Amino acid sequence: MSNNTNTFSPSPTKIKDQKIGLPKGSSITLVGAGAFGGWSALYLLRAGYKVTLVDAWGAGNSRSSSGDETRVIRSTYGDNEFYFDLNVRALTLWKEHQKKWNKQLFFNAGVIWFCYNEKTPLVDDSIPFAKKHQMEYEHMSLAAVQKKYPMVHTDNLSHAWLDPYGGYLKARESAQAVMDAYVKEGGNFVQAYVTPGEIKAGQLNNIQLSDGSTLKSDAYLFACGSWLGQLFPEVLGNIITCTKQEVFYFGVPKEQAQQYDQMPAWIDVDGKDFYYGIPGNANRGFKIGVDLRGEKFDPTTGERVSNPQVLADARKFIEMRFPGLKGAPVVESRVCPYENSPDGNFIFESHPEASNLWFLGGGSGHGFKHGPALGELVAKGFVGG
Ligand SMILES: Cc1cc2nc3c(=O)[nH]c(=O)nc-3n(C[C@H](O)[C@H](O)[C@H](O)COP(=O)(O)OP(=O)(O)OC[C@H]3O[C@@H](n4cnc5c(N)ncnc54)[C@H](O)[C@@H]3O)c2cc1C
Repeated sequence: MSNNTNTFSPSPTKIKDQKIGLPKGSSITLVGAGAFGGWSALYLLRAGYKVTLVDAWGAGNSRSSSGDETRVIRSTYGDNEFYFDLNVRALTLWKEHQKKWNKQLFFNAGVIWFCYNEKTPLVDDSIPFAKKHQMEYEHMSLAAVQKKYPMVHTDNLSHAWLDPYGGYLKARESAQAVMDAYVKEGGNFVQAYVTPGEIKAGQLNNIQLSDGSTLKSDAYLFACGSWLGQLFPEVLGNIITCTKQEVFYFGVPKEQAQQYDQMPAWIDVDGKDFYYGIPGNANRGFKIGVDLRGEKFDPTTGERVSNPQVLADARKFIEMRFPGLKGAPVVESRVCPYENSPDGNFIFESHPEASNLWFLGGGSGHGFKHGPALGELVAKGFVGG
């Protein structure tokens, strides 16, 4: 096979304007039951396809990117209106589904952005979109931040913006809830590790399962997160790269647990490490993550043990921003793979040499929240617009 890496250029246009036109009733095998694959399987099923969803370790498993406790949900994307709008749609769908399933998955805690400079394009440039959707942010002076959140150290900040519409989602529980709904609505799930079969005459012939059997369908959609680069090295090897990302959950002082838990999710826009956190974090501890890309990582064999230096840096940061957490114990920690695309855009494209083989991925550290809206778009793409 030729090296086709250059034919891939992820873009919002390619996500929203796919018109595949696969007749309803056709069979689709979807590999990967994370946020991208699970929601897509559900929407493809609802669109009238015969769907088989395959995952090696199950929905929201510990190796997957969707397998952490919680994920931030926020619309703010600088001047990128596509992701702002996608998140607005996702918010609606999260609310609809949690009501339907009678299970709280979205926690409307708000998201506070700690801004160092008078102008913070990542936030400021989203303000017109927030106004358009009547989801306006609240500008907070440092005095207002100190009054409302006295545990925040503000000396090196300029101001904060509070997005009252965001918050956090329960991640692995959501992945499992989506799987439960998919099966309940008639979807077929198989637990197996998948190896793609041979490509012949412009088509993927079949896939091989780890139990030795093969599976054949009209179309295949691989939503394998950080595994995509390994599974299709010639096409995606340089496109989807996997890095080791670490999150720590700190124990808050016993006298102030409620005050900390009730804080919004926060994002520290220092433009370098980009620390963020989820104080409530489904009662797992005061969560802190770093968006700065970690070392190269193998999502199957990589040990999920944190790097002492990353922990020391996170501790240093947290003690600066939340001085009351000086000496706070780590109550849990987690290693999670980022599935990075070259520019952070998601990928929904076909294999350059097989028109029935599709890829969905490139969540790049921000994909979880978009799951339902993306699944809806994917199904629309298969139907043909
Ligand atoms: C530390 C961290 C923090 C993040 N924070 C946020 C956040 O705050 N907000 C947000 O929206 N997003 C966030 N993200 C990003 C988000 O979690 C991911 O973009 C999203 O979960 C990706 O989902 P996915 O379905 O593409 O991949 P995954 O969840 O990894 O799912 C892929 C699935 O494919 C299966 N699989 C892989 N290969 C095979 C195979 N060969 N055969 C069978 N099954 C296979 C795996 O078992 C897995 O279940 C964060 C990610 C990390 C790591």
